[in-house]
Amino acid sequence: MLREQTFSLRTTAREQILIITAEVEKALGSLTGGDGIATIVVPHTTCAISVNENADPDVPADLTNALRALVPKVRFEHGEGNSDAHFLSLLIGCSLSWPYRAGKLILGTWQGIYFVELDGPRSARKVAVYVNE
Ligand code: ZN
Repeated sequence: MLREQTFSLRTTAREQILIITAEVEKALGSLTGGDGIATIVVPHTTCAISVNENADPDVPADLTNALRALVPKVRFEHGEGNSDAHFLSLLIGCSLSWPYRAGKLILGTWQGIYFVELDGPRSARKVAVYVNE
């Protein structure tokens, strides 16, 4: 049976990486103490989710700068003015599948789950964690 737990995030800058490993593990722990593959979804089109270094705070800052530099200098037609954020969300992706054991994510020592804000600040970004047990 598919089960879901969601939580909300507030972001404070246009581009911002939040390390949300603890929040995801709390949601996962409320769903299961078993083993399996979790799917973590951000149900939005101008943010993303990924995994990267959890230790040095310079890394998220460097990556947000590097992401900004990736945006091509093309003419965007979208009237909302945030096609750069849609583009980067498309590249990074809006879901992750990750293994867990005894209700805990199996992450490398230096890995953390990144919530990547690309069109903030936003007061109510959602993250959904799904398990199928
Ligand atoms: Zn838009």
